[in-house]
Amino acid sequence: ASRFAEVPLAPPDAILNLSTLYKADTSAKKVDLGVGAYRDNDGKPWVLPVVRKAETAIYESQVEHEYLPISGLKSFTDAAATLILGGDSVAIKENRVTSFQSISGTGALCLGANFLKHFLPQGTIVLLSNPTWANHKNIFNTAGLEAHEYVYYNPATLGLNLEGMLASLREAPNGSVVVLHACAHNPTGVDPTQDQWKQIADVMQTKNHFPFFDCAYQGFASGDLDRDAFAIRYFIERGFECSVAQSFAKNLGLYGERVGCYHVVSRTSEITDKVRSQIARVSRAIISNPPLYGARVASQVLNDPQLLAEWKESLRAMSGRIIEMRAQLRQRLVELQTPGNWDHIVNQIGMFSFTGLKLAQVEAIKSKHHIYMTGNGRISMAGLSTRNIDHVAQAIDDVVR
Ligand code: PMP
Repeated sequence: ASRFAEVPLAPPDAILNLSTLYKADTSAKKVDLGVGAYRDNDGKPWVLPVVRKAETAIYESQVEHEYLPISGLKSFTDAAATLILGGDSVAIKENRVTSFQSISGTGALCLGANFLKHFLPQGTIVLLSNPTWANHKNIFNTAGLEAHEYVYYNPATLGLNLEGMLASLREAPNGSVVVLHACAHNPTGVDPTQDQWKQIADVMQTKNHFPFFDCAYQGFASGDLDRDAFAIRYFIERGFECSVAQSFAKNLGLYGERVGCYHVVSRTSEITDKVRSQIARVSRAIISNPPLYGARVASQVLNDPQLLAEWKESLRAMSGRIIEMRAQLRQRLVELQTPGNWDHIVNQIGMFSFTGLKLAQVEAIKSKHHIYMTGNGRISMAGLSTRNIDHVAQAIDDVVR
């Protein structure tokens, strides 16, 4: 008999399940709005030209394939820290930042969760936005941390419930870890304004909470790398210690290469040295040392002024296409006089939009119109194109009436 005979079958991953259904659909009209990856106007993945150039340069330089140090490729992690914290970051100048190359954003969150579990007071809880990226809870729970929720989204306005959020932060035990989406909140597309970030920081400072920024979309949201890093830099300027999980999956289109970084900003450089030594132990236990290839690609781009400038162009192209799709979708719904207000489509930002469609409408749009989205009504804006946007707008109009 198998020792695993009693292992219960886990439920299928909702997003992966959706893509299986999409692939099986034979309709020519089918549209995939589930996918969390950029697509061009032809619905194709896009390899950034700077990535191709960096790959060519790496290939031609005949590199070897030795192990990296535990903390990763230094030319990459240094440039990644500068990218997210800013070229004039006082924390970097004062050696108060430690950076570890990670298995993309997920690996950075995992490294952080395991480090915090060991070194924050026993019983420290983690607060996640409601709703949030589905994997957050898994990651923190797997590291042995208890995850709770803070109010974030207001279904009535399809926007931020700031008062609710601030109240949750006030009610939580002092010194809690608060996971904040640095920009382009997944799944809602709803970000605080700069003034709202200030109010959030005020409460978090009073409560001595620890901000853990998840930054999976820097430059991909607004098209401007600095603007999308506002919240992180603002909290650090105010004197917060914090963690940042940084992903290069979306902004460099390096999804499968798993390029990321985990940063910790501490009060002093002496503390940073100790923190660094302990994160190294955690990372050693999980991955020994990180993968080289994607970090080399990212390092080439980040450290070459010409490639960096070209990358910024591509970021504007990707975010620009998405912003354009938002405007066009809203305009069509207004023209069709689809019941309801559709301003939230353009007010939200980043890869995703929370449409406000209910589960029954999501099911109907799938079965009647071959349009696939997650059950909570979230659509990936990257799945829209000038080719399918009329069909999508008419289908939304149909299921909403
Ligand atoms: N955080 C959020 C909010 C995300 O949306 C994602 C990507 N879906 C990630 C982290 C991590 O992605 P990756 O591990 O591919 O970098």
